[in-house]
Amino acid sequence: MIDVVVLGSSGTKPTKDRNTSAYYCRCEGISFLLDAGEGVQQSLLKYCTQFETEFIIISHKHGDHYFGLIPYLVTMHLLNRVKPLSLYLPPDMKFFETLLSVQGIKLCYDLNIVYYSDTSEIKYRKFSISFFKTNHTVNCYGFKLSVHERYTLDEEKLNLISDKKNLSTLQRGIAVFEGDCLITPKDVCKTHIPKFTVVYGADSRPISPDLLGGCKLLIHEGTFEDDELHLAKSKKHSCVSEAKALAPLVDVLCVSHIGSKIRRTKNEANIFFAKDGLSFTVSNMGIVSGKYQISSALHGRI
Ligand SMILES: [Zn+2]
Repeated sequence: MIDVVVLGSSGTKPTKDRNTSAYYCRCEGISFLLDAGEGVQQSLLKYCTQFETEFIIISHKHGDHYFGLIPYLVTMHLLNRVKPLSLYLPPDMKFFETLLSVQGIKLCYDLNIVYYSDTSEIKYRKFSISFFKTNHTVNCYGFKLSVHERYTLDEEKLNLISDKKNLSTLQRGIAVFEGDCLITPKDVCKTHIPKFTVVYGADSRPISPDLLGGCKLLIHEGTFEDDELHLAKSKKHSCVSEAKALAPLVDVLCVSHIGSKIRRTKNEANIFFAKDGLSFTVSNMGIVSGKYQISSALHGRI
C-alpha cells in the first residue's frame, strides 16, 4: 500500500493556495519526499501526520522543485535528528553541496547524497523506485514506485515448510527447496497480490505510455491550457489535454504542476486535479481513496 499526499501542486511559482512541487509518500512504513519545492515544511505540517522522512528524491535543478530543501534539512538539524537522511539528486546538481558549504550549514545527522541516473534503483524489501529521463529543458527524471508482487500464505499448508526462513521467500514469489523437494508459491499460498506502480512524471512533455504498465496512480504535469500548446512545446511542459490522454492507461490520473493560467480544475471520471493536501491511498485493488483533508496531528510538535 502506498500513501501519497500532494504537498505542492503549483507549476513554477507559488500561489495563494498552492505551494510548488512536492509530494509525500509512505510505503510499507517508509516515508519519503518526491521533490521539495518552496513551502514543503508548512505543507507537511498541515497535511501529514509525519514530518521526518527516510529519504528525498529531487527530479531536477529548477528551483520550484528544490527550493524548500535546505530549510527542511536545517529544521531536521534543529529537531536534533539522529537518523541519517539520504538525498537522491540528479547528476547535474553537484552544486547543491557547494550551496550547503557556502552557507556554512553543518548538520547534526549524516546527510548521504547520492547522484542517481536512469539505471539507478532504490530497493527496499517490499518496494523499489526506478528512474526515467523525462523530456524537459534541463536534465530531469521521473520516478516509478513499484510494490513487488507477493503471496499470502495458506495456514493449512504451512506444515510443508520446515525451514521457516523459506516462508518470506515464498511470499515474494520465489520457489524454495525443502530437502530435494521444490516448493513453489502456488503450493503453499492462497492469494497472489500482483505488482503495482505509482508513477511521477515530474516536468516533461507527455511521458511514454510504455512506463504505465500496472500503474494505479500517475502524477503528471499539466502546466498549460490547450490553447498554449506552442508554449508547452517550447518550454518542454505538457498541456492539460496531453496529460488527460494518458488517463485511460492508469487507474487514476492526478494532473499537477498546475500553471497559473489553467482555467478549469474540475475532477472528472478518473482524473483528479491536484490541490495541496489531496491524498491518495493506493493498493493493488486501485485507489482506496482520493481525499482532501487537513491533518492536525503535527500541530504544536515543532
Ligand atoms: Zn522544470
